[in-house]
Amino acid sequence: MTPQIASHARPRRSGLSVAGAFRLLVVVLFLAAGLAVVHHLGGVGGGPAGTAAPGSLNGAATPTFSIFAIFNLNPWPRPTEPPPAATPGGPLPIGVVAGHWGNDSGAVCDGWLREVDINLAIAERVVYTLRALGYEVDLLQEFDPRLEGYRAQALVSIHADACLYPEASGFKVARVEDSAVPQQEDRLVSCLIDRYQARTGLEFHEGSITPDMTHYHTFYEIDPRTPGAIIEVGFMLADRELLLNEQDVVAQGIVEGILCFVRDEGGE
Ligand SMILES: [Zn+2]
Repeated sequence: MTPQIASHARPRRSGLSVAGAFRLLVVVLFLAAGLAVVHHLGGVGGGPAGTAAPGSLNGAATPTFSIFAIFNLNPWPRPTEPPPAATPGGPLPIGVVAGHWGNDSGAVCDGWLREVDINLAIAERVVYTLRALGYEVDLLQEFDPRLEGYRAQALVSIHADACLYPEASGFKVARVEDSAVPQQEDRLVSCLIDRYQARTGLEFHEGSITPDMTHYHTFYEIDPRTPGAIIEVGFMLADRELLLNEQDVVAQGIVEGILCFVRDEGGE
């Protein structure tokens, strides 16, 4: 028999050799990797069906497995929320021009009553109300740079009539004479006439519609596809009480006319 000396030939060193430590490290890493995979797969399959993973953009749980997941490393920064959706086909705004605003005073009565102040006060109320209803609305100056090629669901310019004729009372609405979208603009005009008359009780003063209205400069600045109208909300002498003290009623009449048009309710 061969004497069993091998086990005694070299006394075993106490502690861990370098090679042993390396093997142990490999085993630990292997176990850690195995646990990570089990944990990961369990997480993907364990949730209720249809539950979107946090950070998932489209709601679909997409199993991912990578060395980065095992060691919980982020190879690149992840977006915390989806990028803003581009809405090139979203609804067009509504444009409201406060007549003369940013340019001149408009008509002046009795040395103190300026048309521009009436127009702006009413326009601001119209814009406020339409925005409260969820519409995107632009409040525009008389010669606003944005009016060049302006695209909108509708554009309405608000003016008031002067004090030259003490007996004159009523309102006027007109669109451009040579319209590119006559059916739409006629409907916008008739909506404004119908709703404004019903709300304010003023008479439609058709006889005094002038080329100033039908050839209004803004109509030639906006995109021809934008339905536009100009409204003279009343006379600053005979209708002064309404224009100064009932501006909410005046604005509401215009708002209802615009809503009639954009909601396709018909005007007459
Ligand atoms: Zn004016």
